[in-house]
Amino acid sequence: MPDTVPCAKCGRGTLVPSKIRKMPGAVVVLGFLLMIGAVVGLGVGGLAKFGGKWIAAEGQRTPEEVRRSLEAVNVPAPIVSKAMHETEESLTEADLKSLNADQAAAVAKAQVALVAREVDPADVSRFADTLLLGSAIALVVGWILRMKKPGLRCTNCGATSATP
Ligand SMILES: [Zn+2]
Repeated sequence: MPDTVPCAKCGRGTLVPSKIRKMPGAVVVLGFLLMIGAVVGLGVGGLAKFGGKWIAAEGQRTPEEVRRSLEAVNVPAPIVSKAMHETEESLTEADLKSLNADQAAAVAKAQVALVAREVDPADVSRFADTLLLGSAIALVVGWILRMKKPGLRCTNCGATSATP
């Protein structure tokens, strides 16, 4: 075959057309890690975006509404006081174990509502946007670093070279 190119590295194999990496191996690994990080970042950013809205909505509830939601499922009064941060005492493991599933869920939501009053939803949203944007950039950069181009690969030793 006239277009057969002998391998310069091993001298035995021949070079055949093949897709080869544009970048050295270490850079390809970096690109791969960037893409994994980007996928995780997109997931966390997306959760923060939706979670932030939910937390903001919980924070809109007044303490009276939170209290009614606890009393609606008959959470015992001493635990309501603790959950509402009306006493110096905080909830204990024994308190939580004494609750049924509905009551425990109501207490958990009450805690979120009280914490949410301290959190600025705009901060959460900004954090989510920054993470989503950074992840999108990392995804593109990672993809570029991992790109392949047409080249030649040795059938014997696997050495690659760019097509001239
Ligand atoms: Zn070779």
